[in-house]
Amino acid sequence: MLIKELDIPEDIIRFYEDSGIKELYPPQAEAVDNGLLEGKNLLAAIPTASGKTLLAELAMLKAIRNGGKALYIVPLRALASEKFDRFRELAPFGIKVGISTGDFDSRDEWLGANDIIVATSEKTDSLLRNGTSWMEEITTIVVDEVHLLDSKNRGPTLEVTITKLMRLNPDCQIIALSATVGNAREMADWLEASLVLSEWRPTDLHEGVFFGEAINFLGKQKKIERRDKDNATNLVLDTISEGGQCLVFESSRRNCTGFAKTSSNKVVKLLDREILGKLAVMAEEVESTGETDTAKVLANCIRKGVAFHHAGLNSSHRKIVEDGFRQNLIKVISSTPTLAAGLNLPARRVIVRNYRRFDANFGMQPIPVLEYKQMAGRAGRPHLDPYGESVLLAKEYAEFEQLLENYVEADAEDIWSKLGTENALRTHVLSTIVNGFASDRKQMMEFMGSTFFAFQQDTWSLEEVIDDCIEYLAEHEMVVKDESHDPISLSSTQLGKLVSMLYIDPMSGAKIVDGLKKAVNVNDMTLLHLVCSTPDMRQLYMRSADYARVNDFVMSHSDDFIEIPNEFKAIDYEWFLGEVKTAMLLDEWIREIPADDITQHFNVGEGDIHALADTAEWLMHATTKLAELLKVEHSSHAHGLEKRIHYGASPELMQLVSIRGVGRVRARKLYEAGFVSLAELKKAEYSVLSKLVGPKVAANILSNIGVRVKDKVGKSTPINSNTL
Ligand code: ADP
Repeated sequence: MLIKELDIPEDIIRFYEDSGIKELYPPQAEAVDNGLLEGKNLLAAIPTASGKTLLAELAMLKAIRNGGKALYIVPLRALASEKFDRFRELAPFGIKVGISTGDFDSRDEWLGANDIIVATSEKTDSLLRNGTSWMEEITTIVVDEVHLLDSKNRGPTLEVTITKLMRLNPDCQIIALSATVGNAREMADWLEASLVLSEWRPTDLHEGVFFGEAINFLGKQKKIERRDKDNATNLVLDTISEGGQCLVFESSRRNCTGFAKTSSNKVVKLLDREILGKLAVMAEEVESTGETDTAKVLANCIRKGVAFHHAGLNSSHRKIVEDGFRQNLIKVISSTPTLAAGLNLPARRVIVRNYRRFDANFGMQPIPVLEYKQMAGRAGRPHLDPYGESVLLAKEYAEFEQLLENYVEADAEDIWSKLGTENALRTHVLSTIVNGFASDRKQMMEFMGSTFFAFQQDTWSLEEVIDDCIEYLAEHEMVVKDESHDPISLSSTQLGKLVSMLYIDPMSGAKIVDGLKKAVNVNDMTLLHLVCSTPDMRQLYMRSADYARVNDFVMSHSDDFIEIPNEFKAIDYEWFLGEVKTAMLLDEWIREIPADDITQHFNVGEGDIHALADTAEWLMHATTKLAELLKVEHSSHAHGLEKRIHYGASPELMQLVSIRGVGRVRARKLYEAGFVSLAELKKAEYSVLSKLVGPKVAANILSNIGVRVKDKVGKSTPINSNTL
C-alpha cells in the first residue's frame, strides 16, 4: 500500500514521501485495512522497529485535521522526550505538540492548546485526578507499550487510566501498541479493538545461542574467531570487525561496568585514529559533567569505544552514551535491561550475556521470554544493517538445548493484570470516588468491572479486595461510607481529595498524617525519615556493613524519630533501619556533601541520588500540603525541606540556587566569595564574577537576574563578545 493512496491530506503525504517513506510496511497496511484512518480502535502487537510510531502518527494527523486532539501515553519520561522530539518535526503542518512530565499535582491546563500531548501513564492519571479540562477534548489516545499492563509496579495505573479514559471519552479512538505477547487477542477484545498481530520486521532477525566455537542459529552455524578467553568479548570483536555495533545485556550494574572495562581493552585495538580522537572528546565531556568515580571509569571506557548504561548514571552521561552510540562512535554498550524496554537504540548484534536475574525471594531466576524477545528485538538497524543477530551464551550442551527451546523457539508469555491486590488498588479506589467515577459501592464494582483484570478473571475476588480498600480508606478518614443507603454510598473527605490530587498512595498519606500528629521535636531528620517510611519511597537496601553505622546513628539521634520500633521485632527494626539509611542519604544531599562521597557512603550511583531526591521532594511537598490541611505547625519546615531537596543545598543558598544556571556547587562558591543574596549579586562587578565562575557563566548569571551585562562591563574590562 502506497502512502499516496491513503486518505490523508496531500501535504502530509508529501512530508512522508520526502522523508523516504513511500510504501507502508505490511503491518501498517493491515492497520489501515482495519480502519486505522476511520477512527476504529486498534491493537498493534508487532516487533520493535516495525513502524508502530508511524502508524500512530497517521491516525493522529488524520484526527487532528478533522479538529481532534491526541494523547500519546508512554511508560518512561525518557521515551516521552523521544516522542516529543519526533512529533515536533510535524510543526510545519501547524501541529502543536506538548509534553507533560512535571509535578503530579498540577493541572497543566496550558497544555490544552496543543494538538498532540505526550505524557507518562502516571502523569495522565494525575491529570485526570486533578480534573484537567482538556482531557475531555481528546479524540485519539495512543497507548505505547501497552503490554506493561503486566508490570507489577506500572501496570495497575496504566490499566485504571485506560479504563477512566474509555469512560470519559467513549467515542475516542484507542490505538494500543504492544510487543508480541501470547494473549494479544484478549487485550484487543478488552479494548474493543481489532488486532494486527505480526512478526514482520524491516530487518531480518537471526536468533541464536553461542556454544563451543560458534553461534548456532536454527539450521546454521557461524564460527567466531577466538581472540580472548571471554566468549562475549569474542562476539563483540567479531561484530566490530564486520562494521557493526553491539548491545550487551547484563544482569547487574556491577557486571555492566565490569564487562565494559575488560572488553574495552580489546575493542580499542580495532578502532582507527579518527574515531579515537572523537571518542576522546566525548570522554572529556563525561569527565567535565560528573563529580564521581563512575564518571572517570565511564570516560576511560568511552575513550576505548565502549560504554555502560544503567539507572545509576546521571542523565547527562546517559545521553552522551546514547548519542555516541547513535553516531556509531561508541561501538559497544553494556547495559542492564532498562535499555531494552525503552529507547530506540538498535545494534547489529545483541548479546544476552546473562539470562538469569536476581530475585529477592527465589535467588537467580531465568528471565521471562517476553523480556528476552524485547532484548533480541533491538538487533538490526533498519536500512543500515543487512540483518540483526541476537545471541545467548551456553556453557554446556544441556544448557544450549534449553536456551534454544526456552527462548529462541519459544513464544512470549501471556500478560496478566496486576490490579488484584490491595496495594495496587487502594489509590485507584480512592481516585475513582474523588473523581466521581463512582459514588456508591455498586458503581465502584461496575467501574472496576470494566478493567482488564475483571475481563481476565472472576470479579468476585476483586470485589473482596475493593471492599478491603474502602474499609482502609474509611478508617483513615479519606472516604465516608454510608451504610444506611442501599447500595452503600461513598464520598470523599477533604483529606481524601487532597491525597488523591497529591498522587500519593493513601497508605503514604495515612503514615504522614499520623506522623505529623504525633511529632513533637521536629528537625530535618524527623521529616526526612517520615517521608522515607512511606510505601511511595524506594528504601535503600541494608548491606551487612551498614548495620553498625545506621544503628549507631539511630542510638545517637533517638529524639529525631517519631517512633522507633522495638529492636526485638527483628523484621520491623530492619525495615526501619533501611528507612533511616535512605533518610541519611537525603540528609547528606541537602547538606551539600559532594555526590562522589554520597555514592561511596551509600554504594549507589549518581542517578540513584537524583531519583531518590525526586521522590523525596514530591513526598515532602505532600507533607507540606497535608500539614497545611491539618493545621499543624510543621508545614513551613516541610516546605523549606522540599526546596532544599530539590536543589541539594543548605538554607542559606536558596536564593542563589534559584537562579537559572546556578547549581549547588556554583552557589556555594559565590556564597563563600561574599555574594550571599540576589541583591549582593546584582551589585557584583562583572570582572570579579568572571574570575570566580568564568566569563560565559558570569554573563549568563547576570542576564538571568535581569542585569544588563553591558552596563557592568567597564571599557577597561576585556570581554569576549560571544559571551554577551
Ligand atoms: P517502532 O515504533 O515500531 O519501534 P518506528 O515507528 O519508530 O518503529 O519505526 C522505526 C523506523 O522505521 C523509523 O525510522 C521510521 O521512520 C521507519 N519507518 C516506519 N515506517 C516505515 C515505512 N513504511 N517505510 C520506511 N520506513 C519506515
